[in-house]
Amino acid sequence: MSAERRAELEANLTAVQERIDAACAAADRPREEVELIVVTKFFPRSDLDLLADIGVRDIGENREQEASAKLADGGTPPGVRTHFIGQLQSKKAGAVARWADVVHSVDRTKLVGGLARGAERSGRELTVLLQVDLEEGGHGQRGGASPQDLPALADAVAGSPLRLGGIMAVAPLGADPDPAFARLERISHELREAHPEATWISAGMSADLESAVRHGATHLRVGTAILGTRPDRR
Ligand SMILES: *Cc1c(COP(=O)(O)O)cnc(C)c1O
Repeated sequence: MSAERRAELEANLTAVQERIDAACAAADRPREEVELIVVTKFFPRSDLDLLADIGVRDIGENREQEASAKLADGGTPPGVRTHFIGQLQSKKAGAVARWADVVHSVDRTKLVGGLARGAERSGRELTVLLQVDLEEGGHGQRGGASPQDLPALADAVAGSPLRLGGIMAVAPLGADPDPAFARLERISHELREAHPEATWISAGMSADLESAVRHGATHLRVGTAILGTRPDRR
């Protein structure tokens, strides 16, 4: 069973790597500019271990409790960086900072204190990305700060012990991702005028990674194309 699953993950990972190679070539970007984060939410700890074994170095989770439980069971696999990509409640910020290396979903200043305290308490360096809402008119259902609120949010992170890594977004549901990711890239350029260190653009999932690579994504978050369709938990 585990040998079968391993072979399946390996084949899917190779296929996704080939898509990224092709997307980088088409966009005339060096392949090393783009990192792959494998999103393991809803899948068991055994898959994390298999992925680590076949060379995956970055995994993403979107629920604090699920991730803590998986990582408590044996610790984070050696050499693997953990990314929190889900919507974050303030009261969970400290808990996330205990295990995450990168939090992609900081969308309000209220989260900064809790994350900074949690990271400090566990003696970790925490990188955070500012999540941007790309829905036209704002107030999308997938979280994110509106672009006009980003400068203040960036200043709050930069003034804290957290490391400001860059920005993150999810393409609007049911719309062409290209204009949304093009806008995200412009937002990133603006942000870097005040915060040159904030170079990461976390964008692109299983269905739209090519579009994200075309528009400067540095980190892709891919789940389904590697692990398969998520089991329905509800
Ligand atoms: C689940 C999730 C992904 C991965 O999506 P797939 O379509 O399964 O590749 C990426 N980003 C976020 C924020 C997610 O919640």
